[in-house]
Amino acid sequence: MARTIEPDCRQCRREGCKLFLKGERCTTKKCAMERRPVIPGQHGNSKRRVTFSEYGTQLREKQKVKRMYGVLERQFREYYEKARKMEGATGAVMLTLIERRLDNVVYRMGIGASRKQARQMVNHGLITVNGRRVNIPSFQVKAGDVIAVKENKQDNEAFKALRGAKIVMPKWLEFDSNTLSGKIVTLPCREDIDSDIKEQLIVELYSR
Ligand code: SF4
Repeated sequence: MARTIEPDCRQCRREGCKLFLKGERCTTKKCAMERRPVIPGQHGNSKRRVTFSEYGTQLREKQKVKRMYGVLERQFREYYEKARKMEGATGAVMLTLIERRLDNVVYRMGIGASRKQARQMVNHGLITVNGRRVNIPSFQVKAGDVIAVKENKQDNEAFKALRGAKIVMPKWLEFDSNTLSGKIVTLPCREDIDSDIKEQLIVELYSR
């Protein structure tokens, strides 16, 4: 399985913002963006202000979202191409398609502490959709789907702390931390997704 090998915190420093790739650590003072928020590399500490060209700004926005969701270039572009053929604003539709990935849903429900951990859980067959094991992280969920931790895996160490925990989640999802199962109440819309993302820049980049 192809994946990014660049260290997580380095990716955040490169993009100049928190991408929340490491779970709990991201909300503590140990976060590299709290301790050393400079661009990685030899000139990262330089006082020179970094200014980007129009292309550079668009490219950085795309890289940021790709890294945030842990999606590689080919698949990311496929989301754009698919969104272009669908009804609605291409950028917003593209984001909702990415948001509907099973690994992202597992993360949003709080089952995985980060998208990377959620992806690993899916890969390892710990997650079911409508009672059937699904081990494809890019699987697109639909409204009404029931997502759960596989019954014979519920005693796994990783899920113990989750039992009975209060988890804040977007309104398009429901999750019961006692039964370790949840539901896609409705499909996500643009307002349910990180408002810091400037998806129009990504559309402009791909339509060059
Ligand atoms: Fe990014 Fe998390 Fe590392 Fe902070 S701790 S730099 S948010 S991956």
